Amino acid sequence: MSFMELLQAVPAAFIGLCLFLGLMVGSFLNVVIHRLPKMMEIGWRQQCADLRGEEPAAAPAYNLLVPRSACPHCNHAIGAWENIPVISYLLLRGKCKGCGAPISPRYPVIEAASGILCAYAAWRFGFGAAAAGALLLIWALLALTAIDFDTQLLPDDITLPLLWLGLLFNSLGVFASLHSAVLGAMFGYLALWGVYWLFKLVTGKEGMGYGDFKLLAALGAWMGWQMLPLIIMLSSMVGAVVGITLIVAARHGRSVPIPFGPYLAGGGLIALFWGKTLTQGYLQLLAS
Ligand SMILES: [Zn+2]
Repeated sequence: MSFMELLQAVPAAFIGLCLFLGLMVGSFLNVVIHRLPKMMEIGWRQQCADLRGEEPAAAPAYNLLVPRSACPHCNHAIGAWENIPVISYLLLRGKCKGCGAPISPRYPVIEAASGILCAYAAWRFGFGAAAAGALLLIWALLALTAIDFDTQLLPDDITLPLLWLGLLFNSLGVFASLHSAVLGAMFGYLALWGVYWLFKLVTGKEGMGYGDFKLLAALGAWMGWQMLPLIIMLSSMVGAVVGITLIVAARHGRSVPIPFGPYLAGGGLIALFWGKTLTQGYLQLLAS
């Protein structure tokens, strides 16, 4: 039996592989979440310098691979044994081996979330293109959620490739027909763009960013236009509950922007796993 046949025949083997893959990629996602916003800032600075006609300042290379990960407090280089997803954090009891500074629990949380969601996708979809697509979508949505939470940005470097990938998978009809995916991308963008301008005309404020439109366009490309109402409904519901809680609990002034990306990402994940069940249940409810 070949490895591929084994994965196909033994669901536990495939689920285990996806759990492992999810944990490892989750560790890399932490790097993306931390570094991509900084890389964007460096890029903007260089563009500004360019526009002013200045020579860009020489800076050491900074990207997803260089420099190596190190403790932000003591610069202790993080070795392979300190970089095992979740396990290292537990073994180190959440402290840097060099200086004892606490390590953010966000790292193991992202790793565990990635591992669990990937294992669930493997169980749910089984060996095949749908599981592969689900893994890619999960990773992109996790990274976007954390980056938006930190910086109120949804980088084009993630949202735009995600949109194209959704169309690519659905050119094979994996999650929706190509027809439905193309319309989903268009209507996804337009729906939030419309809300944005309406909100701006009525209140004079900006309630969302263009990254939110692109993210919903990407989700439409993955799930098809039929899922857009569900995604918008779920994300607004969760967003409203969290937003109102924050406002009632004070501190969070009403004009402070609350990132919408994490809720869209959450709505997208729910649509990925339970969208068909939820919409069918809803239609049955209407018919009865
Ligand atoms: Zn340290």
